[in-house]
Amino acid sequence: MIGRFAPSPTGPLHIGNLRTALVAWLSIRQRNGEFLIRFEDLDRANSSLTNEQLQIDELAALGITHSPDVIRQSDRFLLYADVLAELRQRDLLYPCYCSRREIRDAIRAPHGEPTDGVYPGTCRQLSVSQRQERERAGRPPAWRLRTHQERYIVDDGLAGETSVAAVDVVLQRNDGVPAYNLAVVVDDAAQGVTEVVRGDDLLASTGGHIHLQNLLGYPVPDYVHIPLVLGPDGERLAKRHGAVTLEALAEQGVPTRSILRLLGSSLGSRIDGASTAADLLADFSLDHVPRLPWTIPEHWQTVTS
Ligand code: GLU
Repeated sequence: MIGRFAPSPTGPLHIGNLRTALVAWLSIRQRNGEFLIRFEDLDRANSSLTNEQLQIDELAALGITHSPDVIRQSDRFLLYADVLAELRQRDLLYPCYCSRREIRDAIRAPHGEPTDGVYPGTCRQLSVSQRQERERAGRPPAWRLRTHQERYIVDDGLAGETSVAAVDVVLQRNDGVPAYNLAVVVDDAAQGVTEVVRGDDLLASTGGHIHLQNLLGYPVPDYVHIPLVLGPDGERLAKRHGAVTLEALAEQGVPTRSILRLLGSSLGSRIDGASTAADLLADFSLDHVPRLPWTIPEHWQTVTS
């Protein structure tokens, strides 16, 4: 059994990232599985080795240990290029010239708010001349997976049985860099990952991932999608919510130990006085993890003990 946590090393981890990492670790370590860290540093501009070390230290401060073989995606571009070449040769990719805004507008039109990961299919059926016209306008294309919105049933460890559609996820960005959706599938397979724990904002992309795994003959891992963590105002947790990292909370006098305990209780643990992640193993169960988003406390001081 192999689990993993795959952060982007673009800054300190926030409470939401740490909570996801804790679930991933508890779930796999409880079964004596291996726990891997993989740095998703495809975004070269904002990633750094300093941030990698910072994140490893933050995880370690909570007692989240990992196997020594940490990999980073920026070392694996050749591998991704091989897979892209295979998919292109099998005519499973098509160029997409849409801007984010065009996608948002097309999706919003009749159905209200767009969902992350959904693509309206605008470029799926472009003729050669329509493609040429866009090329002439100077738009470099991203490359998307050609699907037929096949449906898959995911027996998600938290969301339960969920029907997800294969979406035409982007596999190569329009700056030529391999996209997250490709790298995540290639790396999970290459590393033998059997359980993927991540935020439920990625549930909409999971159909595309499963479709790609099938096309490439990769096994489909178990999925556990965790409801997001919200700020006190009910919005998705972000930097603007202020002190949401271990360091910032420490500056406010909230010790790491208290954060671990609070995260534990937010996951349904009844263990008192945990001082490291391993103390939470005894009663951890996905069955106890709430199915609704968790809102961080407005006044951390009240939870400090
Ligand atoms: N880097 C992604 C995130 O932090 C990880 C996605 C995944 O675990 O597949 O949300």
